[in-house]
Amino acid sequence: MIIANSIAEVRAAVHSARAAGEAIGFVPTMGALHAGHLSLVDASRARCDRTVVSVFVNPTQFGPGEDLDRYPRTFRADCEQLAERGCWLVFAPSNEEIYPPGYETFVEVGSVAEPWEGACRPGHYRGVATVVLKLLLMVGADQAFFGQKDYQQSLVVRQLVADFNVPTEIVICPTVREADGLAMSSRNAFLNPTQRHQARALWKSLQLAEELCQTGERRTPILAGRIRECLAEAGITEVDYIALVKAGTVIAIDEVVGPTVVALAVRVGQTRLIDNHQIG
Ligand code: AMP
Repeated sequence: MIIANSIAEVRAAVHSARAAGEAIGFVPTMGALHAGHLSLVDASRARCDRTVVSVFVNPTQFGPGEDLDRYPRTFRADCEQLAERGCWLVFAPSNEEIYPPGYETFVEVGSVAEPWEGACRPGHYRGVATVVLKLLLMVGADQAFFGQKDYQQSLVVRQLVADFNVPTEIVICPTVREADGLAMSSRNAFLNPTQRHQARALWKSLQLAEELCQTGERRTPILAGRIRECLAEAGITEVDYIALVKAGTVIAIDEVVGPTVVALAVRVGQTRLIDNHQIG
C-alpha cells in the first residue's frame, strides 16, 4: 500500500494507474477508521480497480469550540486496517499541503447547506465543500464513495459535483451500525459506558418513527414528538434537531406522503451524535 503525503505523489500514482486503463475509486475520511469507513472501501473495491483513501482531519469544517483538537487520530491503526482491506493508496496530507500560506478560496453551497446541520454548525458545509472539491480535483477518481450516515453532507456533495461539473461519480453507501443499532462514528469513542448505553436511543427512536408510520401515523409533528420522548426516556434531552424531510432533499414536510428521511442530531454529554433513517 502506498502512503502519500503530497498532492504530487497522489497525482503521479493515479496518472499511471489510469494510463494502464484502471478505474480509480476514492474514499475521503477524517481517519479513526471503523467498519463504516471500511464498508466504503469495500464498495470502492467492488466497483473500481484501485482504491485511494484520504485521511485528513479538515480544520475548516470545525467551528470554534468544536472538537477539532480532541478529534481521534489513529493513523497507524488506520493504515493497518486499510492495507488489510485492499486499499491501494492512502493520502495523508498535512494542513499546509491542503491550505498553504496565502490560501483564500472557499466554496459556498446554497440552500441545501442551510438548514439542520448547516444551521447548527455555521461554516461547517463551507469547509466540507471546500475540502471535498479540493480532494476530488487532486485525486481525479472515477467514483467517490460517501456514507448515508451523513445524509445532508451527501446532498451537499452531490450539489457541489453537479454545479462544478466534477467528472467523478458520487456513490452513497448505507449506514453501518453496531449490533445494537448505534450508527458507527469516530465520535462514539468519546462516550463513557453510561452514555454509550443512552446512545442506543437514537436508532430506537428512528425505528419507532418507522413503526408509527407503518401503523398509520403520518403527521410529522406527532412523529417528531414521539422521537423526542423516546430520546428523553433514555436521558437524552439536548436535541439540536429532529427533521422529517422529503427524501433526497432538506425540505421539511408536514405529513409523510412518500419516501421521507428522518434525521436527528443530539448531544450525549459533550459528544454530538447524528443519525438518519428513511421511512414512508
Ligand atoms: P468521516 O471520517 O466521519 O468524515 O467519514 C468519512 C466517510 O465515511 C463519510 O462519507 C461518512 O458519511 C462515512 N461514514 C461515517 N460513518 C459511517 C457509517 N457508520 N456507515 C457508513 N458510512 C459512514
